[in-house]
Amino acid sequence: MILHLKNNIAQDRAEEIANSINAFLIHQDGKQVLITGSGLKEVPAIIESDVDEFWVFDTDIQLASKKYRSDKREVKIGNTIIGGDTKSTILIGGPCSVESEEQIRQSAELIKGMGLTTLRGGCYKPRTSPYSFQGMGLDGLKLLAKMREEYGVNVITEARDATHIDEIIEYSDVIQVGAKAMYDQGILRACAKTNKPVLIKRGFGTTLKEFVQAAEFVLSGGNENVILCERGLRTFETNTRFTLDLCGVAWLQEHTNLPIVLDPSHAMGYAYGVPVLSRACVAMGIDGLIVEAHPNPKVAKSDASQQLNFNEFKQLLKDLQPVANAVGYNMI
Ligand code: PEP
Ligand code: MN
Repeated sequence: MILHLKNNIAQDRAEEIANSINAFLIHQDGKQVLITGSGLKEVPAIIESDVDEFWVFDTDIQLASKKYRSDKREVKIGNTIIGGDTKSTILIGGPCSVESEEQIRQSAELIKGMGLTTLRGGCYKPRTSPYSFQGMGLDGLKLLAKMREEYGVNVITEARDATHIDEIIEYSDVIQVGAKAMYDQGILRACAKTNKPVLIKRGFGTTLKEFVQAAEFVLSGGNENVILCERGLRTFETNTRFTLDLCGVAWLQEHTNLPIVLDPSHAMGYAYGVPVLSRACVAMGIDGLIVEAHPNPKVAKSDASQQLNFNEFKQLLKDLQPVANAVGYNMI
């Protein structure tokens, strides 16, 4: 249940009420908001006079639910707003991993030169093998921050564990929670304590309910700036890396109030499929698209097969703009 307290309730009374019903207490748009599990179906009599409005739910998808907020939430990435009624699809591009100053500088120049706003690049890589490139860590983050400073681009990078959150808050504009890390409560709780936007990627074996509940961890801790990212599920198919769940995207659009970003690069696993899949994604009317691009994909230290080269990435934006326009959106 979500309860909005009356405006005249003092902070210590609000805390007392929260404790008495075992609820989270957050502040939202000047309101004191309590959130309990969805098991609570009636306002307890002892607090009835303190409550202004309340919402009852069938599942623990509550703050993220359209039943609570029928409008889509806005999230600000640097100075760029996505979601809400912006009808903007932000194209986020850049390499899988930050590999060197030269490589990330070329990528920042690409993003800036195309009039885009946001550069991606992993520094703490959640690799499946311990023998693969693990990322540049803090040195990589500092390179991203340098590009942010020099080119005025926003940067997004992944927190592989909770100990990275403070650094990522300092050096970047969006915290990415990866598909393998999205169940990590340490990361989710740390993301809840900041106002930095958090992009949560859906795990490849994660139900939609589990996915949105990960978002609820962040929202119920007081961070309203949550973005959902679909990046493909593991199915019986082996010819593509994963299977992009566009049905799931339709479900999220219908039932949640969070901005939705799609990542066709990780879903497909092969560069040849990324442009066509991107068109399908953009045609759904989405808030963002993440596409991996590398100055020389063949020598990329991670995800080499799926990264577009820069010419392909430039062509992608040209091809996507009319698709976005056809559904009333604009690529930014
Ligand atoms: C990535 O964005 O490079 C990445 C590792 O993604 P995912 O968590 O979706 O596998
Ligand atoms: Mn990658």
